[in-house]
Amino acid sequence: MLHGPDADSALRNRARELIQQGQLPDALRSRVWGGKGSGGPCALCSLAILHDDAEYEVAGPSGKESSLRFHFHCFAAWQLECIERNTRTLDSSTIAFLRADR
Ligand SMILES: [Zn+2]
Repeated sequence: MLHGPDADSALRNRARELIQQGQLPDALRSRVWGGKGSGGPCALCSLAILHDDAEYEVAGPSGKESSLRFHFHCFAAWQLECIERNTRTLDSSTIAFLRADR
């Protein structure tokens, strides 16, 4: 498995693609369950989340029953992508507020 900045940007690119395709939500999730890997595929990288790995589980997109499971680093890449997307869509007054604290 890849590690380091290249792997991170590859995961971010994949997260962006899946969000654009509607496979992943583009919103931050307030309810997250963490646990040991269940052996199922990761929603981002599609690799199995092994029992020795940490598994992060969130509710899937509305209308779908299944939850989404991620490796820790995949979960982080997806949520970072969500933050970036949502920052881009903030209105100008909110951005001004965020930039006021210099
Ligand atoms: Zn993964």
